[in-house]
Amino acid sequence: MTETTNTHYDMIAIGAGSGGLSAVERASEYGKKCAVIEVKTIGGTCVNVGCVPKKVMWFAANTATQINSAKGFGFDVDFKNFSWEALKKGRDNYINGITNWYDGYLEDLGIDYIHGFGKLVDKNTVSVNGVNYTADHIVLSPGGEPAVPHIEGAELGITSDGFFELQDLPKKVAIIGGGYIGVELAGVLNALGSSVEIFQRAGTLLESFDPMIQTALEKDYSNHGIAIHHNTQIDEVLTDKTLVTNQGEFSGFDTIIWAVGRDPMTQHLGLENASVNCDQRGFIPTDKFQVTNIDNIFALGDATGRTPLTPVAIAAGRRLSDRLYNNMIDRHLDYNNIATVVFSHPPIGTIGLTEAQANEQFEKVKIYTSEFTPMADALLDHKTTTALKLVCVGDDEKVVGCHIMGHGADEMLQGFAVAIKMGATKKQFDDTVAIHPSSAEELVTLR
Ligand SMILES: Cc1cc2nc3c(=O)[nH]c(=O)nc-3n(C[C@H](O)[C@H](O)[C@H](O)COP(=O)(O)OP(=O)(O)OC[C@H]3O[C@@H](n4cnc5c(N)ncnc54)[C@H](O)[C@@H]3O)c2cc1C
Repeated sequence: MTETTNTHYDMIAIGAGSGGLSAVERASEYGKKCAVIEVKTIGGTCVNVGCVPKKVMWFAANTATQINSAKGFGFDVDFKNFSWEALKKGRDNYINGITNWYDGYLEDLGIDYIHGFGKLVDKNTVSVNGVNYTADHIVLSPGGEPAVPHIEGAELGITSDGFFELQDLPKKVAIIGGGYIGVELAGVLNALGSSVEIFQRAGTLLESFDPMIQTALEKDYSNHGIAIHHNTQIDEVLTDKTLVTNQGEFSGFDTIIWAVGRDPMTQHLGLENASVNCDQRGFIPTDKFQVTNIDNIFALGDATGRTPLTPVAIAAGRRLSDRLYNNMIDRHLDYNNIATVVFSHPPIGTIGLTEAQANEQFEKVKIYTSEFTPMADALLDHKTTTALKLVCVGDDEKVVGCHIMGHGADEMLQGFAVAIKMGATKKQFDDTVAIHPSSAEELVTLR
């Protein structure tokens, strides 16, 4: 039986991840009465099974790499062993600390937290655990979940969610998918001591990235012992975890990780009850103001299928509430020139157009590149590559793309992203005096 409460809100968000939380937080700061509904754990993908635990693992992997590198600088240390159990325990405690903090935070802001599965009943009503809640504005922010292919034996593999549940370091891992999640997990596991093979349908890792990045990453991953199988389609997984593929059979794996994309969690959201449209894959289209085809229902974050990143979901949520409740009538997120980082080993930072995209859109394109061994690796046996590219267009050589792989790329890009967002030209890059010695200085001295 469905119970209707007299609880009416200005805004209800379905999904307490990066997007939903940001929208209600900002709305409550404007004095609005808000609720957020969550079926799993507050914080969503990013905090629980995404960016945050992933970055902890990346730091751990970097530490392993540094221990291995220490000999080159004269230190008498060896990477003998490490405790996966201790790492997982520390990581889980850290995440629990964040999720516990949210409780107080929501309470302080006066936001109601409703635990359960939210389903649209009509354009102003959401039902959770048999209780109906109403709102003037409803935000759909259910995020996504890892996709698993519909093939025989698929259940023998885990996904990125399962990666965070692993109790031990796998010995031999097959990672299916060469997108950013596959590449990141491969780098972490390889650095910590697993034998790693990547199987991907495409002919290159990171298919949508600039070819300079693809080539540099494949070279470094191969040099560091990661086997990469291109153009490989998995047809079946046998009970002993043998992969049956169009390129033959591959066996000996104790762990298989599916990293083949993410599906939006919109299937059981009751979209049809409120006549909200979604596309064939379940993504909810919106206009630039995050408005769905129903004028009081909005969609944010990964469920919209646009640039699935935490800061994007956050920015869209905050701007939506600024517009609805603070009279900022044109406030919306510009989805152009959003910087993104792949936490591979070494990391990759990229913003704007690839060389190919620039050539499609502009007549006059000038490319500046550099590739070198970073000074950090000069004394080491195992070296990495640093590769940089600026994509410039027009007579004034406006910088429309910047692609970096190398130590520090993750931290380096943010500042350059500001310049590129502001429309900086190559001359303005060149007029900026370099910081020396650094890898970043190459970006202001490219010829
Ligand atoms: C392994 C991994 C690594 C990542 N690394 C990065 C990174 O380094 N940097 C970065 O920017 N992004 C990263 N991301 C992406 C980032 O996590 C997402 O873009 C971001 O979390 C999207 O936010 P969201 O609010 O759209 O959805 P989510 O954060 O997924 O939140 C949606 C929430 O809604 C809940 N929910 C769904 N349906 C319902 C319902 N009907 N009722 C109630 N609750 C519901 C879900 O349980 C979930 O908690 C990573 C993702 C993964 C998987």
